[in-house]
Amino acid sequence: MIIKFAALIFIVSNLKMASSTKYIFVTGGVASSLGKGIIAASLAKLLQARGYSTTIQKLDPYINIDPGTLNPYEHGECFVTDDGAETDLDLGHYERYLNVPTSQANNVTTGRIYQYVINQERAGAYLGKTVQVIPHITDEIKRRIKLLGNTGEYDIVITEIGGTVGDIESLPYIEAVRQLKWEPDFDCIVLHLTFVPFLAASGELKTKPTQHSVKQLLESGVQPDILALRTEHKLSEGVKEKVALFCNISPKAVIEAMDADTIYDVPLLMQEEELDKVVLDKLGLSYGEEPQLVAWKQFLTKLKNPKQTIKIGLVGKYTELQDAYKSISEAIIHAGAHIETKVEVDWIHSEDINEKNAKQLLENLNGVLVAPGFGERGIEGKIAAIKYARENKIPFFGICLGMQCAVIEFGRNVLGLTDAHSTEMYPETPFPVIYLMESQKNISDKGGTMRLGAYSCNVKENSNAFTAYNSDKIQERHRHRYEFNNKYLGDYEKQGMIATGLNPENNLVEIVEITNHPWFIAVQFHPEYKSTVINPHPLFSAFIKAAADHHNK
Ligand code: GLN
Repeated sequence: MIIKFAALIFIVSNLKMASSTKYIFVTGGVASSLGKGIIAASLAKLLQARGYSTTIQKLDPYINIDPGTLNPYEHGECFVTDDGAETDLDLGHYERYLNVPTSQANNVTTGRIYQYVINQERAGAYLGKTVQVIPHITDEIKRRIKLLGNTGEYDIVITEIGGTVGDIESLPYIEAVRQLKWEPDFDCIVLHLTFVPFLAASGELKTKPTQHSVKQLLESGVQPDILALRTEHKLSEGVKEKVALFCNISPKAVIEAMDADTIYDVPLLMQEEELDKVVLDKLGLSYGEEPQLVAWKQFLTKLKNPKQTIKIGLVGKYTELQDAYKSISEAIIHAGAHIETKVEVDWIHSEDINEKNAKQLLENLNGVLVAPGFGERGIEGKIAAIKYARENKIPFFGICLGMQCAVIEFGRNVLGLTDAHSTEMYPETPFPVIYLMESQKNISDKGGTMRLGAYSCNVKENSNAFTAYNSDKIQERHRHRYEFNNKYLGDYEKQGMIATGLNPENNLVEIVEITNHPWFIAVQFHPEYKSTVINPHPLFSAFIKAAADHHNK
């Protein structure tokens, strides 16, 4: 009897769990790059502000297991979570908006789905059965979608489906959504984002592409509940009604998604359009409190009313595609707004800079940031930029490879270690001041094998890093294979480059600083991943503040 009762409680609590989390799918149509990630993050922000614990998941329809092995030209930045997942850059937006960390479960790729199903097949999980896209792949997609809800942590899970409706790659995902819509106890709605082009010749906004895109979704058996229409011009009521009529949607659920000055305006624009209320109505949830978004609005006010403008140089090798440095540029925006300073970023290609032209390229800058990266290309340009910033006392911030280059530069030009280098670029260097981590030596696979995710670091007091963090214990995220060679640490410190941050377990150098310089900090980790609108990252804030001081001198 007791066992039966316990079983009943178990079933009931599971039923509750299965039915208590609500799901919102975000799909896209007509064109790519319409900003599904920003719409998803903005909606999540509003729902969070109404008291709903909300998270966002991204399903990416490519076959790579994760974007870790992708060239940034292909897919922009690779974002890294605390738990060491290499993920899509949209997860960066989710964290920057929600101020809540994401994890491995927040990003799923087709590669990961297939890998799991194929491993199951080899293990004999489907003995006797033909393994097929439906139901096996779609079942696995559905399982992954439910993982976050099943943690019991979230009232609402928003799942963004990458790509554009109609792509061959996204078909299994749309099919999974279709199946879920019919599952008892699974509460979900679909928000479809499309584009309404403006034809200048006729002076008209055209809705046909949206109608076609909805038809395409319908062909897959999915009726969207809400349409968000990306547009460069205001949509009249007439346009909204027309779309509503042709797409089987109530006019209230046709939402205008106007181009904005900054991506951080979008939550407020969505609030004006009452997207959050429409969503809550459809999910049968109460409105809760009207979002005040006080801190968010304060941030926007400061962002839009700067008291001064400064200029910093970002030296990297992917400057043609600024998405490659998304988290860095957003972290700069957060830090600038924090001190009411507009930060203009001069994107400097590392292959274009050398010791001869460094003065011309850098002398008018208030700060220099050298970006993360891999491989030989552009490395000497980064080193030349660092030399100029060091010698001319321009605030300098080096991140990951940027830190390694700062160490190489100091070794060559201050310690006189001719040809000092990282063994990544020059394995035979006589002075391997940066070398492969011990833990990396027996690794040959490239995917997911770096030192990834959050690790602790002890910060030395009386350092600029300590002043910035106001703490001697920090946790930051990593993505690297090489490290500072501690054999040289004594020599570096004698000459004024100090390790002010060390991993407490293995003494891996996490932060270096130069003492006779106003602000020269280089870090092995990636502070940019942890900067959010509400919590600008302390090191970015300190760097921008130092750059502003340089500007005002
Ligand atoms: N290529 C360097 C390493 O692997 C730096 C990596 C980075 O900048 N993310 O250690």
